[in-house]
Amino acid sequence: MTTFLPFNRPHLTGRELEYVRQAAERAHLSGDGAFTRLCHAWLEDRIGCHRALLTHSGTAALEMCAILADLRAGDEVVMPSFTFVSTANAFVLRGATPVFVDIDPDTLTIDESAAAEAVGPRTRAIVVVHYAGVPCRMRELRGLARGKGVLLIEDAAQALGSTYDGLPVGSFGELAATSFHETKNIISGEGGALLVNDQAFAERAEIVREKGTDRSRFLKGQVDKYTWVDIGSSFLPSEIMAAFLWAQMEDADRITTERLRIWDAYNARCASLEQRGLLRRPVVPSGCGHNAHMFYVLLRDEQLRARVIAGLAAEGINAVFHYVPLHSSPAGARFGRAAGPMTVTDAASSRLVRLPLWFGMTDAHVDRVVSALEHLLA
Ligand SMILES: *Cc1c(COP(=O)(O)O)cnc(C)c1O
Repeated sequence: MTTFLPFNRPHLTGRELEYVRQAAERAHLSGDGAFTRLCHAWLEDRIGCHRALLTHSGTAALEMCAILADLRAGDEVVMPSFTFVSTANAFVLRGATPVFVDIDPDTLTIDESAAAEAVGPRTRAIVVVHYAGVPCRMRELRGLARGKGVLLIEDAAQALGSTYDGLPVGSFGELAATSFHETKNIISGEGGALLVNDQAFAERAEIVREKGTDRSRFLKGQVDKYTWVDIGSSFLPSEIMAAFLWAQMEDADRITTERLRIWDAYNARCASLEQRGLLRRPVVPSGCGHNAHMFYVLLRDEQLRARVIAGLAAEGINAVFHYVPLHSSPAGARFGRAAGPMTVTDAASSRLVRLPLWFGMTDAHVDRVVSALEHLLA
């Protein structure tokens, strides 16, 4: 009997429950207590951002970006179609129109020349997604956004710990969002953070996160009562979640190192399959440091992919695919539009398989997955 090999298995460092207990004993269970402050300081130090603010999800952090961008109906936001729904939905909630562009065939991140062509008079922001933890070409994208006078927003949900030109991902846009969902590298079940690099957004970000009130200024003693001053919502997580997350942050380097070890093992084991033309491995451009969020392979076509996923499942191996391109999803077609051809997006969407990758996977596990893959492709 072969044992089941899941696609994802959440890793606990061992101190999560102790910190949750401490949070409970301090009798501060709502947000912005001692554990939240530790997490904020850690993110500000690691990313070098002006301000980091925990949120209850990556989706919430993206929704905060959209509020802070002050978008109105008819405003356009340029973004890849090959991404998770929240990248677009956050902006649609503000009445803006996502303008979808194609991706680069090597990294599957936004194609900057397609983005440049899609920027028009109504464009207010470009949202980039560091897919699989591999950074987008930030020098070109930064230059594009500056040249056009639009905001650059990073969806770094998958990319905490990745670097571009030696600088942390999440430090390039005026605003960035990351996620601590249980499928990401550093986790708190659900969870996320807004990263504010442009100081001009910091005060409003605190207000938006606290239901549109100036409660943060009140707690700092800057105003003598707090009141409703802007739109906002309850975007902050409880101390219970922050306590759990702090245990993960303390071990972040070990988690990344371990994931990179597994990613490198996959990459080495799949090299000969690539040489034989049976699959394509992920491409990490030089100058980019990735966080081993995901190991995927691209197969010849959709029929083969279906056979491979079914064949792996028969061996007890859980491999998955994504995304339905947003431009061809029902809501994407209703609320957004495609700016040009989506050739690479459509091809990746039909050919990509994500292999199991989680802290604690052994070389034998990797071997088992790649051997099964080899057998199915032979
Ligand atoms: C996971 C993810 C999100 C959403 O994060 P949640 O914490 O699940 O809300 C957004 N964008 C991308 C690219 C993601 O991978």
